Amino acid sequence: MTDIQILDYLDTNGKFLIKGVSAAFINAVRRVAMSEVPKLAVDYIRIYDNSSSLYNETLSSRIGLIPLKAEELEFFKMPDECECGGEGCGSCQTVLSLSAEGPKIVYSSDLVASDPSIKPAYQDIPIVNLHEGQRVVCEAIAKLGIGKNHAKWQATTICAYRNLAKIDIIDCDLCGDCIKECPKGLLSINKELRIKNILDCNICRLCERACSIDAIRVGLEKDQYIFSIESDGSINVKDIVNTAVDVIENKLLNLKKYLEII
Ligand SMILES: [Zn+2]
Repeated sequence: MTDIQILDYLDTNGKFLIKGVSAAFINAVRRVAMSEVPKLAVDYIRIYDNSSSLYNETLSSRIGLIPLKAEELEFFKMPDECECGGEGCGSCQTVLSLSAEGPKIVYSSDLVASDPSIKPAYQDIPIVNLHEGQRVVCEAIAKLGIGKNHAKWQATTICAYRNLAKIDIIDCDLCGDCIKECPKGLLSINKELRIKNILDCNICRLCERACSIDAIRVGLEKDQYIFSIESDGSINVKDIVNTAVDVIENKLLNLKKYLEII
């Protein structure tokens, strides 16, 4: 039976213990969370003035990688699914403008969106350092996209899983050699050898190697995983996981539909 325990949760990162699923299932969630959850990112820039020390391409790349947070992301459509046919309209894109003159450091907070519900996820991402007399004036068009097409549309910065460790202790002579070896300090002796928190074990097996009588065996819990996910701030972790699950569900429903036609 599937069981999920939340070990750690903030809007921008989460850690879950998931039991009773296969590695294939959890890997599908990981891959879709990284590559198929849509988010907004700048995809096109009109540069009206750039006398900064950065080439237009470098400036554009920096602006493109700034994570954008939208209060109502669900109202945006992917350009190829929009009624405008990808030409660009209020349903599939939004405009951000930037106008700055030196001396100053231009930050992400200087990007002003025409839609007040959209803003950079972090206000203090440096874009360029302008010296006296240098200017940057541009208009950036943000569109929905997915990480599979470009890293700027990847909402996760970390998304990984590992098996939960399984430590068996058999006929331990309480010599304590393994306690000194464990870099996480997870082992202790209180009448018998004890493990403080198995969730923290990263399966380095140093304890196993330190034991001269093979009393300690480190393995993997086959259907138990620690799933870690971190967002770039554009979408909260809960929404990333929910959307990833929806994407998988839609793929399976489509598969079912095709099989019914055959
Ligand atoms: Zn459109």
